[in-house]
Amino acid sequence: CGIVGYIGYRNAWEVIIKGLKRLEYRGYDSAGIALMNEKLHVYKRAGKVSDLETYAGQVATNSSLGMGHTRWATHGAPNDRNAHPHASSDQKLAIVHNGIIENYASIKAMLIQKGQYFVSDTDTEVLIKLIEQIQLEENSSLQEAVRLALTQVSGAFALVIASQDDSDLLIAARRGSPMVIGIGEGEYFIASDASPMIEYTKHVYYPEDNELIFLHRNEIEIRNLTNVVLSPYIQELELELEA
Ligand code: GLU
Repeated sequence: CGIVGYIGYRNAWEVIIKGLKRLEYRGYDSAGIALMNEKLHVYKRAGKVSDLETYAGQVATNSSLGMGHTRWATHGAPNDRNAHPHASSDQKLAIVHNGIIENYASIKAMLIQKGQYFVSDTDTEVLIKLIEQIQLEENSSLQEAVRLALTQVSGAFALVIASQDDSDLLIAARRGSPMVIGIGEGEYFIASDASPMIEYTKHVYYPEDNELIFLHRNEIEIRNLTNVVLSPYIQELELELEA
């Protein structure tokens, strides 16, 4: 399974599809992508990245912000509906997630009580709808809602979130699952390992557990779950790009 995120000035579809192919060796059963261009456009289905490419390649929106996912199903069968990205009820937020939200069942029951409904069988959809619910109830920023939600979940995750309300923001976070941030000029990359970004940048940051990374095209901000601002230790990649 794998994750790729991009915010910058390039064609996000191309960066993300190429990146997902580099992560294919990790194994997966479904693939999907969300691209932002005024609206969030989600394309996803069970099968290979090449199937996604055939299905969405002609129609994919021109975008410089997006996220891609290859899924290794843990909660819910490997089908089109359970493939990531998953959206909030108002369709304004999208998430891709590798890992497991262990306490998803109790959170899902609480959200159903509050009127949320679910269209997939995944633990991941519970997390994005928890974030949406917190934003509504606390009237908080998306960044703060993500932080609060992540203090309520147990389990492992590497995730990326985008919002239709902010075309200059990509949020990443991890706990227990791998993630690398690629630092470019006017662009940032997120991926499960460095292979999707090595042709674009050699500068990388490896987030620790429980870090939130807020990426804007010209700024990276890192906070921990208690909202303390951290400064990134940026490393130089020594990998050579394979043919
Ligand atoms: N638990 C999530 C799901 O089943 C993510 C699985 C993964 O790591 O790809 O959809």
